[in-house]
Amino acid sequence: MAGNRGVAYIGANKVEVQDIPYPKLELQDGPGVNPANVGRKCNHGVILKVVTSNICGSDQHMVRGRTTAPENLILGHEILGEVIEAGPDVEFIKEGDICSVPFNIACGRCRMCKEGKTGVCLNVNPARPGAAYGYVDMGGWVGGQAEYVMVPYADWNLLKFPDNDQAMEKVKDLTMLSDIFPTGFHGAVSAGVKPGSTVYIAGAGPVGLAAAVGAQLLGAAVVIVADMQQERLEQAKSFGCETVDVSKGAPEEQVEQLLGIPFVDAAVDAVGFEAKGHGEGAEEAPATVLNSLMDVTFAAGGIGIPGLYVTGDPGGVDEAAKKGALSLSLGTGWAKSLYFVTGQCPVMKYNYGLMQAILHDKVQIAKAVNATTITLDEAPQGYADFDSGVAKKFVIDPHGMVA
Ligand code: NAD
Ligand code: ZN
Ligand code: ZN
Repeated sequence: MAGNRGVAYIGANKVEVQDIPYPKLELQDGPGVNPANVGRKCNHGVILKVVTSNICGSDQHMVRGRTTAPENLILGHEILGEVIEAGPDVEFIKEGDICSVPFNIACGRCRMCKEGKTGVCLNVNPARPGAAYGYVDMGGWVGGQAEYVMVPYADWNLLKFPDNDQAMEKVKDLTMLSDIFPTGFHGAVSAGVKPGSTVYIAGAGPVGLAAAVGAQLLGAAVVIVADMQQERLEQAKSFGCETVDVSKGAPEEQVEQLLGIPFVDAAVDAVGFEAKGHGEGAEEAPATVLNSLMDVTFAAGGIGIPGLYVTGDPGGVDEAAKKGALSLSLGTGWAKSLYFVTGQCPVMKYNYGLMQAILHDKVQIAKAVNATTITLDEAPQGYADFDSGVAKKFVIDPHGMVA
């Protein structure tokens, strides 16, 4: 039987490539595995040979030591792979199929799944609704920044590509379907972006850039992307976005210069709880983005919040932040009748349509986020480079299958 190697979280700012067990169609005990999930049979699952697995800003929260992720957790929730073994209860997915794996693990059988709310499936994580591969508090499912990974409920979870050769040709775009493309798109949809909208997106990381591509697809008139990292702002400009440099201060004035008024119709938080304040050299100030989005969004507008907020942050700036409590100016939001949408993106709601947009050359998501392929052994360096703020989305290619 083949061996396996994967990227493990070792401690704050440290990941390493380790020899790990070859996956079984059963959830084994391991770091972060909820005791009630140990030994869980997955005859409905498949073993995938990982073609690509991307590094995400969500992984960075763990790797920076800002969560309660356990040591030796195998990372990786953004997975695209080839089926090499299908469990006896898998009916429609076959060996040899190349598929995208939504980062949310979902059973397809509970009330939430039946309503399409796959980010809060009730049957995959004994601790709380919702699960994911390789993620703290998400049930203990082993991550896919590895050579091989097990995907449960395969008929339900996997998005099979229509043609393997075509899939491999566009694999750097299709690999974004497991998370950031649907997530960014969901941010824009949930903020109410429609033809002619003006949109402000906080964060020019891969999720913010994917939200910008999503807003463009939805027909936005003006898409403004904000960050303090110049290289990332340049990346946003490269595909037609306007930019706001928040190291110069709060966004209103710069938004007014662009639009004639200091407001947008819709806003997206693609930053999350490690947000920095506005102005030159500003320190971490976790409520900055949420409060400034309430300021900059026009009356009755929507705010999509894919940016991650946690319930426990050992590195939080104060006692409240350590428990995930932020000082929000909710009165501003109330007075303007704003609405908010938070949580995991239910990937399955969007991945088929966005796949079609990729396959029919309607969008170039890989180019927009500057998809950059690395080997499994280069993953630790990829984490360090991504953390330094380069305008790249790192795609791990563990078997050297990506041209
Ligand atoms: P990232 O860390 O690469 O990008 C975040 C960017 O925000 C950085 O470029 C940073 O400079 C910038 N930033 C910090 N403070 C800012 C401010 N005040 N205004 C504007 N920009 C600011 O991360 P990413 O991969 O793009 O992910 C973004 C967020 O989305 C993360 O919190 C991640 O966990 C989350 N996420 C959520 C989901 C979901 O399903 N909801 C899925 C994927 C990622
Ligand atoms: Zn992700
Ligand atoms: Zn479910």
